[in-house]
Amino acid sequence: MNITEIKVENYEKVVTCKDEASGLHAIIAVHDTTLGPALGGMRMLPYKTEQEALDDVLRLARGMSYKSAVADTGLGGGKSVIIGDPKTLKSEALFLAMGRFVESLGGLYITAEDMNITIPDLEIVRRETSHVTGLSRASGSSGNPSPYTAHGCLVGVQASAEEAFGSPDLNDNRVVLQGVGAVGGRLAILLKEQGAHVTICDINTEKVERLAAEHGFDVVDDANHLDVDCDIYAPCARGAGINDETIPRLKCKVIAGCANNVLAEERHGFDLRERGILYAPDYVINAGGIINVSVELLPGGYDEVEAMRRINRIGEALRQVYAIAREENIPTAEAADLLAERRLEAGKKSVS
Ligand code: NAD
Repeated sequence: MNITEIKVENYEKVVTCKDEASGLHAIIAVHDTTLGPALGGMRMLPYKTEQEALDDVLRLARGMSYKSAVADTGLGGGKSVIIGDPKTLKSEALFLAMGRFVESLGGLYITAEDMNITIPDLEIVRRETSHVTGLSRASGSSGNPSPYTAHGCLVGVQASAEEAFGSPDLNDNRVVLQGVGAVGGRLAILLKEQGAHVTICDINTEKVERLAAEHGFDVVDDANHLDVDCDIYAPCARGAGINDETIPRLKCKVIAGCANNVLAEERHGFDLRERGILYAPDYVINAGGIINVSVELLPGGYDEVEAMRRINRIGEALRQVYAIAREENIPTAEAADLLAERRLEAGKKSVS
């Protein structure tokens, strides 16, 4: 196994690994550990070049530092990528080698599930390193993060309603929710329990029909969902849904959902502000899953009551973000970054 460090400005440690025996070619990026060890998922993709993989892992690791700083998880940010086609390259030997690679950082980086990596894959990694989170509840780990992400989103929708409409009460609010998957499906139910009128859509129409029959949601075709008048739009499917084409069509006053990378580009945050639409920054509102995972690392181990107590603080994080956006006259996504940077800076000062 050949592990090589690459010097990257503003990153604490970036290492590549090539292991001929197993075919592993991977990169781990540790962005910042001021607030704690760097937690971030492991993804596997057929990147065309090592540079493409490096760009991705650096961007994602930095994003995790910001997400954890705002969510106050007591953790830093990192990420790992395995270069290769998950359909053909996965093997026991590959994940054992990846486990040794993670272990070589001595706990500076803690891994978790991400794109194309499953719990069984991580269970193999776990045989070589203890620095793995998000395994099954039965094994003492925190289990499936999606219900916790959904709960955190509900708290975030309520805080956003308070900012936009003066009350966190969702009774009679009209919500359009795109993407009734693991998180969105659960969030739709939670919103309805709070008295909201929920209209759902998904490219998987079978799922939509089943949920509508079970819970009495209204349904709209995915292609037409932006034409439905609503108070709150909850994107819970995919990234880049808010872009030049969709912004003029929006009929909502608040955007608050679980999807990652909601804004196609940073500048779209300005466009939303100009249109008077409040945007709950994705990595703030969808932090319930990582907060849940972070509780595994507390001295007493995972505790669901403590996890929920911490996830409920997403409301306070968003209130702070909205206050900064008002004070600085900047889009909310920028305000979230500013809050993260202030917390990282304060952490650095308290260490030195
Ligand atoms: P999922 O795969 O379970 O659900 C996604 C749903 O969106 C599916 O039902 C799918 O059919 C639908 N969908 C996909 N593309 C669509 C499109 N173009 N139009 C309409 N519907 C479409 O995923 P999930 O775990 O629920 O995650 C949803 C989003 O939330 C993703 O962006 C994910 O990155 C983000 N997120 C998830 C978590 C988590 O804990 N699972 C945490 C943070 C962020």
